[in-house]
Amino acid sequence: MQITPLILEKIIQAANDIIEQNKEEVAELDRVIGDGDHVINIQRGLSVLTEQRAEISQLDWVAAWNKIGMICMSKIGGASGSLFGTLFVAMAKNAKGKEVDTLVFAEAFSAGVEAMESRGKSAAGEKTMLDVLIPVATVLQENAAEPELLIKIKQAAVLGMESTKDMLAIKGRASFLEERSIGHIDAGARSSQLMICAMVDVLQQEG
Ligand code: ADP
Ligand code: MG
Repeated sequence: MQITPLILEKIIQAANDIIEQNKEEVAELDRVIGDGDHVINIQRGLSVLTEQRAEISQLDWVAAWNKIGMICMSKIGGASGSLFGTLFVAMAKNAKGKEVDTLVFAEAFSAGVEAMESRGKSAAGEKTMLDVLIPVATVLQENAAEPELLIKIKQAAVLGMESTKDMLAIKGRASFLEERSIGHIDAGARSSQLMICAMVDVLQQEG
């Protein structure tokens, strides 16, 4: 699969739309075990990305990811702003000088997720967005050449999101609740899963 950055125009729109459609649910999740601002934070970033999507889609992958990363860092705020920013800037750094195909994308995404782990001093199983992003990175790396890749990405994202429900929060504001954080899905895991599934839908429609 050889995809150009032109797809970003539709992908950004899809991410923006899916969060708009599910904003009450995501806000509620962050209200229960966080401070309730997660959806507002990511919508702030997504609205700037949506405004600039036409220009971003004209860039090459590395320049596009750098620009997306900068917008995430400067516009989203909260813990999630610097984490999403770190993801895209690290992806750009990893892919620099390479021709981006599915395997290079998989490597860049994995490097981006590892950079988030260092930035957040966090790991899998701590009830954060990483419980979606880490399994998705693994699926990408292990199935980059498989026809089932896109379906497997969506399955991993949904399973990862659901897995946060029974976890004890170790990182972020939810960790202040200790045992009371158990029984609720993490807001960042839900928003990440929604955006990943919406982006994959765009890729599947492009066929
Ligand atoms: P804040 O927690 O500062 O209010 P947001 O509400 O925008 O920021 O984002 C909260 C989400 O960020 C959480 O649901 C969780 O998924 C993620 N998160 C918070 N801290 C970390 C961390 N150290 N590592 C990974 N993800 C984190
Ligand atoms: Mg919050």
